[in-house]
Formats: sequence, structure tokens, C-alpha cells
Amino acid sequence: KRMEDTGGKVYRLGVMGGTFDPIHYGHLVAAETARIEFRLRQVLFVPTGNPPHKQEKKISPGELRFEMVRRAVADNPNFSLSRLEIERQGPSYTIDTLRILRKDHPESDLYFITGTDALREIFFWHEAAEILKLTNFVAVSRPGYEARDFLEQARKEHPEAQGRISLLEVPALAISSTDVRARVGRGQSIRYLLPEAVRRFIEEKALYRMT
Ligand code: ATP
Ligand code: MG
Repeated sequence: KRMEDTGGKVYRLGVMGGTFDPIHYGHLVAAETARIEFRLRQVLFVPTGNPPHKQEKKISPGELRFEMVRRAVADNPNFSLSRLEIERQGPSYTIDTLRILRKDHPESDLYFITGTDALREIFFWHEAAEILKLTNFVAVSRPGYEARDFLEQARKEHPEAQGRISLLEVPALAISSTDVRARVGRGQSIRYLLPEAVRRFIEEKALYRMT
């Protein structure tokens, strides 16, 4: 759909990276909408690892975030998840993940799904130009982050982005993990913001009580 492929391969693999602390319906609706609109065979969720020396922002342990994603995607045969990043030692870069995925899925073009907030950052990612050679981007609209002007500008400044990035409107879901954590911290309900199986896990493990 309106996008040059990385090589005109047979299949399209969606890749949804994120901290997922916790995963919520914003992520799931974004992935599902991208899957249908771009005819992706699968969407692979890739929870980020825990950077060993980065304590400034407290992130829940990788295994707990992984388990929440596992529960969230269990009932969708087109969703799967990867331990690639949570098992990686040392700094974790998207470029490394994409190189591995390209090797593991030689039959597929890659479509990296991000929100429009994350899209604004990709040009600052490690080896950004290289990343744009390995994958397409599907930027899903996120309330509060207009992307159209930004993208027009980016296409001028970064010729390698030409034909590589598409915008996708989804039903506005102003859900964020930050807000979910804050709600738990304040003792408010998070029902209907994320799958019930994830909500129960958060309750069982007493996650986010101190945020
Ligand atoms: P936090 O508030 O902790 O940053 P988050 O809700 O932004 O959490 P992330 O794990 O940071 O979730 O996001 C992973 C990816 O999902 C990013 O590309 C982000 O832009 C996208 N995303 C998150 N929430 C939404 C949403 N409601 N709609 C569309 N995309 C989203
Ligand atoms: Mg975020």
C-alpha cells in the first residue's frame, strides 16, 4: 500500500517495539490496524531489554513486561512476540534487532510500527540511515502528536526516508503506559484500558503501586 518495499518480498512482517510497561489497548489497536491496512502476515512484539546502567527511568523487569505482552497477544493468531531484546546483554539498539529479523525472515519485508511520538525520534536513533534501509515505518496517529508537518519536513531533510514512512490513522486512543501506571499508583481503575489478563497480572504482582 503506497509504500516502496525493501525488496518486493513475498510477505510482510510487522514489528512492534516498545517498553510495554504495561502493554495496553493503544498498542494492540495500533498493531491490529497496521496489520490489516498493510497486509502484514504477522506482527511481532519486541519488548525492550532493561539497560543495565540506566536507572534514571525505572522500568519493570523484562520478564514481567514480557509476560504481560504474552498474555495480551495470546488470543490473536497473527500476533507473536520475541525475546530478542530482553535477552540481549549490554546496550540494545533497534538496528541490531532489525538485522537479526532480516536474517531470520528472509522471505519478508519489515514494517516497523511506531506511534507518531516515537516517529519524531527515529532520526536520532543509533544508525538511523541504516535502519531506514532495513525497514519501512508505519507511524500510527497518537493524540497530541501531529505527524503530517513533521513528516513532510523529515522527507526533505532525510532523503533516505523517501517512500519509507507511512502515516496511519487509527481510532484515537489516548491511552499511555505512563497514565496506566499513574492510575494504579492513585488506586484508580485501569479496567478497559488494557486486556483483563494483563490487569489481573498487574494486580497479582502488585505492580505500579508506588508510582
Ligand atoms: P510510556 O508512557 O511509558 O512511554 P507508551 O504508552 O508510550 O508508554 P511504549 O511502550 O513507550 O508505550 O510505546 C511503544 C510503541 O507504541 C511506541 O511506538 C508508541 O508510540 C506506540 N504507542 C503507545 N501507545 C499508543 C497509542 N495509544 N496509540 C498509538 N501508538 C501508541
Ligand atoms: Mg512511550
